[in-house]
Amino acid sequence: MKKLIVITGASSGIGAAVAKRMSKEGHPLLLLARRIKNMEEMNLPNTLCRNVDITNKESLYKAMQEAEALYGPIDCLINNAGVMLLGHPETQSEDEWDTMIDVNIKGLLYGIKYVAKSMKERQCGTIFNLGSTAGRKTSKTRLVYGATKFAVHTISEILREELASSNVRSITIAPGIVETELLSHTTDTTIKTNYQKTKDTIGDLLIADDIADIISYAYNQPQSVCIREILVAATKQTV
Ligand code: NDP
Repeated sequence: MKKLIVITGASSGIGAAVAKRMSKEGHPLLLLARRIKNMEEMNLPNTLCRNVDITNKESLYKAMQEAEALYGPIDCLINNAGVMLLGHPETQSEDEWDTMIDVNIKGLLYGIKYVAKSMKERQCGTIFNLGSTAGRKTSKTRLVYGATKFAVHTISEILREELASSNVRSITIAPGIVETELLSHTTDTTIKTNYQKTKDTIGDLLIADDIADIISYAYNQPQSVCIREILVAATKQTV
C-alpha cells in the first residue's frame, strides 16, 4: 500500500477534491473536518474520517495517532482547512478575527507540530500549506483573512528552511479565487455580494480539481525535488 496522507478540511471544496485524487492514486487517507457525513459519503477505500475541529489539538493528535496505527507513518500532511470571513476593521466582530486566527494559523501549526518530528527522524515527508493570492497581495476587506494567509506563507517557508536538511518538503499552494463554499461564511452581506460580482465577472474560475491536480503534481515529484510555492489563478483573474 502507498503512504498515508492526512487532509484537513476534507469535507468540501479543495480538501474533498484532493482526497478523491489522492485516493485514486492509491493512498490511504485520514480525512479531518467537522462535517464527518460529507467525508464518509465519498466512500473512499482505506480512509479514516474523523470529526475533528483542528483548533482542538488533542482531538487532532488523537486522530493522527489512530491513522498511523492503521496505515503507518504520515508521509504527507495537507494543511488545507481554512475560513475566510471578509470584513471591515471597524465593524467586523472580534469573534470572527479569533476564528480565522485559530483555524488558519493555529490549527495549521498544530498539524505541523505533530508531523515534523517524525518526518525529520525518518528523513522523508511532505507538508502542503494552503496559502492564497491573499497571502501575497493586500486588499480591502481582508484585514484579518489576508493577515492569516501572509502568516501561512511565512510559516510554510520558514518550515521549509527548518526541514530542508532532513529531506522533508514544505510546499506553499497559493490559489486565486476557486469556486468553493469559502465565501459563503462571510457575514457582511454587502461585501459578499460584491465579491460574488467579482467572481461572476471573471467567469472561468479555477475549480477544486485544478488545485488537486497541482498538489498531486508537486507531491509526485521525486523527494529530492521541492516545488517551494505554486501561485495559481484563473487566467481571467486580474487581481
Ligand atoms: P471550503 O469552505 O469549501 O472548505 C473549507 C474546509 O475547511 C471545509 O472542509 C471545512 O470543514 C474546513 N474547516 C473550517 N474550519 C475548520 C475547523 N475549525 N476544523 C476543521 N476543519 C475546518 O473552502 P476551500 O476549499 O476553498 O478552502 C480550502 C483552503 O483553500 C482554505 O485554507 C482557503 O483559505 C484556501 N483558499 C481558497 C481559495 C478559494 O477561492 N476558494 C483561494 C485561496 C485559498 P467543516 O466546516 O466541515 O469543519
